[in-house]
Amino acid sequence: MSNNYRIQCDCGAVELEMTGTPRVQAFCHCEDCRALLDVPYHSIVAWDSERVEIASGKAHVVEYKYPTLEMTRVFCRHCGETLYNTNAMGWRLVSQLLIRKCNNGELPGELQSNAHFYYDRRIVDIDDELPKG
Ligand SMILES: [Zn+2]
Ligand SMILES: [Zn+2]
Repeated sequence: MSNNYRIQCDCGAVELEMTGTPRVQAFCHCEDCRALLDVPYHSIVAWDSERVEIASGKAHVVEYKYPTLEMTRVFCRHCGETLYNTNAMGWRLVSQLLIRKCNNGELPGELQSNAHFYYDRRIVDIDDELPKG
């Protein structure tokens, strides 16, 4: 059985579909993620690029390649919601917050973070049981 997840931006113009098992589900504390979304750490689910597709509303999507980063941000031109961003590995990173918002406020259990990445670069301490690397 393969898992399918469908999410949409705030205004509903763009729908994103993710298929199958993610590469990584984690909290990322690196500078890039923090700068990207202006958050203390990023809660992400990362899929291989071919597993994340714009299901509808492609015409409303804007891609922004950061000049100084190996990163692209893909967002809706109407509401500004970030649908995903890419990283240096070419994975597509979807915010857990967006998935949660589109799933009646709940993150599917199999998408919960199971680790902290770049914890040594953190700006906040996290008191939990997850492995920190
Ligand atoms: Zn939108
Ligand atoms: Zn990061």
